[in-house]
Amino acid sequence: DSGGGGGGGGRGAAGEGAIGMELLCVVKVVLKKIKRRVLVGDKVLVGSIDWVDRRGMIEDVFQRKTETADPPVANVDHLLVLFSMDQPKPEALALTRFLVEAESTRIPFTLAFNKSELATEEMLFTWKSKLRSWGYEPIFCSVESKHGIDTLQFNLREQTSVIVGPSGVGKSSLINALRNNKHFVGVSEQDNWYYPILGSKWFEEQRVAEVSTRSGKGKHTTRHVSLLPLMGGGYLADTPGYNQPSLIKVTKQSLAQHFPEIRKMLKDMEPTKCSFSDCLHLGEPGCIVSGDWERYAYYLQLLDEIKIREQFQ
Ligand code: GDP
Ligand code: ZN
Repeated sequence: DSGGGGGGGGRGAAGEGAIGMELLCVVKVVLKKIKRRVLVGDKVLVGSIDWVDRRGMIEDVFQRKTETADPPVANVDHLLVLFSMDQPKPEALALTRFLVEAESTRIPFTLAFNKSELATEEMLFTWKSKLRSWGYEPIFCSVESKHGIDTLQFNLREQTSVIVGPSGVGKSSLINALRNNKHFVGVSEQDNWYYPILGSKWFEEQRVAEVSTRSGKGKHTTRHVSLLPLMGGGYLADTPGYNQPSLIKVTKQSLAQHFPEIRKMLKDMEPTKCSFSDCLHLGEPGCIVSGDWERYAYYLQLLDEIKIREQFQ
């Protein structure tokens, strides 16, 4: 691994200077035979290195810490949940859906509100207090005015992150504001296989040239995810993640764990517990979770949705 040769091996190395050499890699046939896909963000073992032509072969893929499906990235260790203060305005139920989805991945996340320059002091204060009562500390930022961008950069340092959030909040704009244009770690999908690549302008030229000679066509990739190295170190996927949280990993039993308010109530009552170990906190006898909190109605609504989904599974 030459300081990141072929996909994420350079993680932890800050900035462009630490990336030693970019290699255009093929995947060893045996890995394909055992259906070991290589994702962007994977740490890989690279062999058969040709230092002159900057080629290599991916011989093994190290065990993943995490794997996200949308976008497909390995070893994501941080999510940035992005909403905006205006255009569109934050909507409490939609926000709750995103927060529950993020909690269910078990990947640590930061909650940020973009377009803060469009909000009044009063709106910012109201949302800050609201989010605090839900158990979150939001960051307010603006790609437009640059406010809070350095704080975000600090939060993303030394991690591999994906931005998620509804459309129109400024995910793509923020990715562009945070990226360091010189290098990226990318992956292209060909024949349903992902080829992780650590790239730069040099790499893009090689890749396009390669494709042209092989198929006679130019750029052809059906799907492309890159990890952009950030100024403060760390990587950010250039493709926004889910903008419609499916809550697919959330069960009616696990939903409560994804609400900090419920977690806090249960913790404050320790060692007392709800009488039923499978309590859904709907006012069952001996339930110690009250219904007297702002998002309780959303908890009930999501619970109903999940119950219906589980019935049809
Ligand atoms: P995405 O759908 O989440 O990727 O959002 P985009 O990045 O495409 O942004 C949607 C719109 O919001 C674009 O017109 C951006 O120019 C605009 N936008 C992004 N950031 C800001 C901001 O901080 N303030 C304002 N006023 N507009 C912004
Ligand atoms: Zn209960």
